[in-house]
Formats: sequence, C-alpha cells, structure tokens
Amino acid sequence: MNQIMLERTVAPQPGLAATGAVLTIDLGALRENYRRLQSRLSPARAAGVIKADGYGLGAARIARALMAEGCDTFFVAHVSEGIELRPALGTGPAIHILNGIPPGAEPDAAAAGLTPVLNSSGQLAAWRDMARRLARKLPATLQVDSGMSRLGMTPGEVDAVAADPRAFDGLDLKLVMSHLACADEPEHPANEAQRLAFEELRAKLPPAPAALANSSGIFLGKPYHYDLARPGAALYGINPTPGRDNPMLPVVRLEAKIIQTRLLDEGAGVGYGHTYSVSGKLRAATLSLGYADGWHRRGAAAAFVGGVRLPFIGRVSMDSIIVDISAVPEGRLKEGDLVELIGPSQSVDDVAELTGTIGYEVLTSLGHRFHRRYLG
Ligand SMILES: *Cc1c(COP(=O)(O)O)cnc(C)c1O
Repeated sequence: MNQIMLERTVAPQPGLAATGAVLTIDLGALRENYRRLQSRLSPARAAGVIKADGYGLGAARIARALMAEGCDTFFVAHVSEGIELRPALGTGPAIHILNGIPPGAEPDAAAAGLTPVLNSSGQLAAWRDMARRLARKLPATLQVDSGMSRLGMTPGEVDAVAADPRAFDGLDLKLVMSHLACADEPEHPANEAQRLAFEELRAKLPPAPAALANSSGIFLGKPYHYDLARPGAALYGINPTPGRDNPMLPVVRLEAKIIQTRLLDEGAGVGYGHTYSVSGKLRAATLSLGYADGWHRRGAAAAFVGGVRLPFIGRVSMDSIIVDISAVPEGRLKEGDLVELIGPSQSVDDVAELTGTIGYEVLTSLGHRFHRRYLG
C-alpha cells in the first residue's frame, strides 16, 4: 500500500520539450575519472563520495556507475542519504556517514547497514550501546582531527579511547580516517603537518585500514594514499589540481533553451533594475534558466553556441537570463534552440571563477527543473 502510494507521488522525469534546460551527465566520463584515480592510487583503493545527491548529479546513478568499475565503498554526509541510497546499492557496498549519527538515529542507521563515521567519544559510546542492544557487531569508522578543526576526535579523546580496553566492544572498526584542510594547495605546510598528526593518532588506535585523501589529496603523492582515498569532486570533473591542467574529464554539460529572441534599440533598458542599457542596436535572446536553477545571480558570465561567446546582459532573473547574440549570424538562433552554459566552452571551474565560488558549489546548486540526460 505504502509502496503504491509512493510510486504514484514520484513525478515522471520531464521530457525535453517541457523543460527549460538540459543537464547531461556523462557516466562514461565519470567511470574514466574513477579509473584514472584508481590507477594513480593503486594498490590503495578509491571510494566514491556521493554526498549531496552525488554533488547534484544523482547519487544512485553515480553509485551504480562506480560499482561497475569495482567501487564498493561510498561516503555520504547524512544518515538520511544513506538510508535512501541503500536500496539502490544493494547490501554489498559500504556506506559511510561522514557527519556521523545524530543522537536517536542509531537504530535507523543500524537497520540500513550504514557505517557511521564516529566523530566523538559520545558517538562512539552511543554506537557501541546500539551494538550491545542488538547483540551483534556493527561496522564503524573513526575520524580523528588531524588539524582541520571541523570533525573528528581530538588528540585528547583519542588518548582516552586508546586507554579504554572496552572502547570498541561490539564494533567492527572498518576505517580510521581524517580530512585535509589544504589539499588543493600542494605547497601548504598544513598538509604534511596533518599527515604526521594522523600517523601519530592512528598509531594509538586498534589496527584498521586508514584514509586521509580527498580528490586533491590523491595528487599530493603516495604518502597520502594509505589504504583508501575518498574522491568526490575529481570524479565529477572538477579540477583537483587548481592552477594546473585538469587531469580529469568533464562530466557535466548544461544547456538552456532560448525562449525568445528580439532586436533591441539604442537606449533600451535590459532586465531588472535596468542595470544594462543598449548602445547601438543589439540582438538579444532570453534563456530559460535562472537563479532558481542554481545559476548564481552574482558575477558576470556568458553562454556559448558553437564556441561563440554570448555575454549576459542585465541581471540574472529567477527563471531567465538575457544574452547578447549579436556575435552569431542573424537568424541562426531561434526559439527552442539550446545554448551552452557548462560544457566544452565553459567548464564547471570556469563558471565557479566567474561567479566567485568553487566548482563544488556550482554543481551542488544545480536545480531540479532540468531535463536530465545520462550518457554511457
Ligand atoms: C566531501 C568530502 C570528501 C570529498 O572531497 P572532494 O574534495 O570532493 O574530493 C572527502 N572526505 C571528506 C571528509 C569530505 O567531507
């Protein structure tokens, strides 16, 4: 009964004709990115970080594509994300919960077979307690704070846990992990300081596989690889080596439809606040995508068609953007045509730079009104 009601409330994927924009996710490129990271890491293993719905690209689809490459370990942020993903992944793969378990969520986490990242001695005690109540071993990951000051046990807590012979009763310690604060700056002294702190902390704990590197951490070299790395961004085509050539393939393409084209006369005010006014004559097109679709209102940007730049004019609206199409021959662009916002002419990282943010935020901001196309 519940199942039937659920299925009825899940809206069908809107067709291209009914939507204003198309988001194309190249699962073949994602898989190639996984292989590239895996070959750089070998014999260490690459997990898949698929929090925030796989950085906005669809966690279940992403996970299944990575599983086809042999990935059997996934990370999400919330217990709710893990519960939602478990049916899509089956019982085999490990799903680690980076934010740990909030008090009271232990039974649901255990029932879904999730592996919480225990970030404090309180979380450790609660999870141990859950194992005792269920009278079975529960998987656990322990995070230590090697210097980011965000999550994980402090050195003092690690000492206390290390001194308690019953600390891990009923738990199967799958992983000891920490997270780098400055991995995208290879020369930053914090990287080596964190690695050394991690060494010291994990030596006090029961032997378990270790994990330190995110995407950028993988490119810091072998000493950072340990047994498992946790790439997210690089899988999705974000450059893990800022300032150097991107070693990953692009995964995302975003195209918006032209709603309408028009010829604007000298002096015409364009968009909200008339922040732009036309000098000379100008051909404009209005695109069917706006800040409600996750395109940041701040910062200038442009669309592209066949490599030709179509600068934004005026403000980004909630559902639309006006662009100058004078650079393409008259009549070439018409209603319903698609123009590129993310793709070969403008990468996710380019968009991030233009809008004053990072590729992570560009992807996770992408809205839910697109027609989504999965390739590969
Ligand atoms: C998000 C996250 C990752 C993945 O980081 P990327 O930079 O996207 O590769 C890895 N580890 C932790 C703890 C995270 O929070």
